[in-house]
Amino acid sequence: MADGGMGNESTKCPAYSSTSQKKLLCFSRTINVERKAPHRQWSRSSIMEGKVPHIRMENGSAIEEFYTFGRVLGQGSFGMVIEATHKETGTKWAIKKVNKEKAGSSAVKLLEREVNILKSVKHEHIIHLEKIFESPKVNLLHFESCYYKKMYLVMELCEDGELKAILDRKGHFSENETRWIIQSLASAIAYLHNKDIVHRDLKLENIMVKSSFIDGNNEMNLNIKVTDFGLAVKKHGSRSEGMMQTTCGTPIYMAPEVINAHDYSQQCDIWSIGVIMYLLLCGEPPFLANSEEKLFELIRKGELHFEDPVWDSISDCAKSVLRQLLKIDPAHRITAKELLDSQWLTGNKVSSVRPTNVLEMMKEWKNNPESDEENKTDEKTNWSFQEKLKSNQFRKKSHDVHNTSLEKEEKQSTADEKKIVTTNKKANADNWGSSSSKYSKFLPAELKEELEKNPGTSSQGVATKPPAKSTSLSRGKKKP
Ligand code: ADP
Repeated sequence: MADGGMGNESTKCPAYSSTSQKKLLCFSRTINVERKAPHRQWSRSSIMEGKVPHIRMENGSAIEEFYTFGRVLGQGSFGMVIEATHKETGTKWAIKKVNKEKAGSSAVKLLEREVNILKSVKHEHIIHLEKIFESPKVNLLHFESCYYKKMYLVMELCEDGELKAILDRKGHFSENETRWIIQSLASAIAYLHNKDIVHRDLKLENIMVKSSFIDGNNEMNLNIKVTDFGLAVKKHGSRSEGMMQTTCGTPIYMAPEVINAHDYSQQCDIWSIGVIMYLLLCGEPPFLANSEEKLFELIRKGELHFEDPVWDSISDCAKSVLRQLLKIDPAHRITAKELLDSQWLTGNKVSSVRPTNVLEMMKEWKNNPESDEENKTDEKTNWSFQEKLKSNQFRKKSHDVHNTSLEKEEKQSTADEKKIVTTNKKANADNWGSSSSKYSKFLPAELKEELEKNPGTSSQGVATKPPAKSTSLSRGKKKP
């Protein structure tokens, strides 16, 4: 973050972050530097950070010179998101307005994290951050002091809203529709993981739809964008940001190793992709219970059910992918790259993805050779079982090597971060997918407390959307 930006709040004087008066002092110090810039309507100090212009305005209304504001798109944890048209080009954007003063210092930390990560990424299925504007608040007692109070994030507009809302309307997607969504999602996550970025809060609500069309087969093609990088972390070389032992995320999407507060890697995102894929195909989460404790028990067991008639038309190949995404052991879970190469996504008959857990593979093959999609593929390609085993032993080894180095990085996390943070002890099954369940997601402790202290800018007060299917509770097998 540039000088005077929100990054300074926490980094320069953390001791003063608890009250607004102290915050003011803290910010004042920062702004002394800023005031040395020549007076202009808006100044471009440290314009290019990454490649996202970061623009300092001296006057809060200066942004209206560039954009015409339109309809409200939504209310987020940090402020409103409004559609805006760039006056010169006519391009439409989504502008997130954040009142940093109201949001509180810890919420600002989440936002800071999100902005820093968004600045460093560029991918067709990750939300694009075009520009950042900040407007100052002048401290009248010391004219030379001011700090940046409001922040405007200019993001690409996703006209079709949240994927969750489309699922709610449709009930569930067809296998093809799901395949295209998962392909885009896997490509975005493979890109992030390749950059050592772990999202940690993948869920339907954090997938926006930029545009869509219905094809000749009456199937929906969605152009999706991954958003909300507030819980994302980037690991730097041998040092992680110390967050990879923190239990965070949203309960129904949380991987077993995360709820167990074990060391975990980017594979937690893969589990969440599995939950998303299951939800897209049948409209209900794979694990659902009326208390958090029971929900976590189901997640730890990881038993998948495909008895509902909706699964009858879903291919074995898709079910096999789900099993590989929702493998309890992250070392045996498919990676994002492997998912991209999978037969289900590529349509290639020869899948480069082989099951990684040899024992499970043998068990599956022994119990039910016909229904094993991978075996069918192998018959076609004359793969012997021994070759298959050899391939998997090799793959297992490379997984272990990879995992060990990740674990080494992650073990440097501080022990006090290894705690589960929740004030909402009940994961209400009725409310599994509501947007107001934002706070049932797990945040690092200090951030959660702060967010709860500052509900003014949160989405808590916003009307709750109905779950994708309220009938989900009636599924006896999911109920404890
Ligand atoms: P949160 O803080 O809860 O993660 P956001 O502040 O990112 O949510 O967004 C709040 C709401 O604004 C979202 O639920 C969504 O409906 C809408 N929204 C956010 N970003 C965009 C965008 N780029 N295009 C269209 N709508 C958006």
